[in-house]
Amino acid sequence: MSWDARQRAMLAEMGFRLPAATSAGVEAGVVELAEPEPEPIVIAAPPPTILRVAPTAAPSSFAGLGLSALREAVSACRACGLCEQRRHAVFGSGALAQPQWLVVTDAPDEADDAGGEALSGDAGRLLDRMLLAAGQRRGGDGASAFVTPVVKCRPPRGRAPLPPELEACEAVLAAQVEQLRPRLVLALGLQAARRLTGLAEPLGRLRGRVHRWRDLPVVVSYHPAYLLRSPADKAGAWDDLCLARRTMQAS
Ligand code: SF4
Repeated sequence: MSWDARQRAMLAEMGFRLPAATSAGVEAGVVELAEPEPEPIVIAAPPPTILRVAPTAAPSSFAGLGLSALREAVSACRACGLCEQRRHAVFGSGALAQPQWLVVTDAPDEADDAGGEALSGDAGRLLDRMLLAAGQRRGGDGASAFVTPVVKCRPPRGRAPLPPELEACEAVLAAQVEQLRPRLVLALGLQAARRLTGLAEPLGRLRGRVHRWRDLPVVVSYHPAYLLRSPADKAGAWDDLCLARRTMQAS
């Protein structure tokens, strides 16, 4: 896999350095990356013990809506209790026509709820750098990724969304997929990963393989907010992005 100058610059901003760019020694705080060998892509087979009901093709009042109408419907949605305390529903942002990647994150946080934007603040800036390093962007000319949370309304006090809330909001996500028609889903964080894989496993066991959701390949990785707290895991996140790239190139 090769990386152009812009991608190398993004990696450097994230604290990474690819071996070919190394001249001498490793600076303090810099995570040295190995460029992954082109391994065969492993398609995950569901284990026999699935701890929760797999995502269903729920009938939806959102199905068939164009993106503008869907955005309006979501802002007025009262399909689950999360509508009660939201300030803004977070529809998501990015490429509006056939994005290469649909990035599904955990539930909105307080800043997202206040501004109505998915992954605002430092976590969002890190995500944007990660996407650029992987050859994707969610804004500007040539946008190729769309970023949206797994539920559109913030759960009170930052708790995890409950199964009925995830179930209700999957209809929105399904309608977004229907309209956007992405090629691959990148699930960032435990809530998004478990919902889209249908597996109640630790995040570490969901990473490193390709799952399927609604006929789309799904790659799991860390949430950017977690990576800000645990920068040592950025190397693992980079492996996940490389898996996503290889998966898309192979499809
Ligand atoms: S979380 Fe989703 S289903 Fe629930 S009210 Fe918000 S938009 Fe509707």
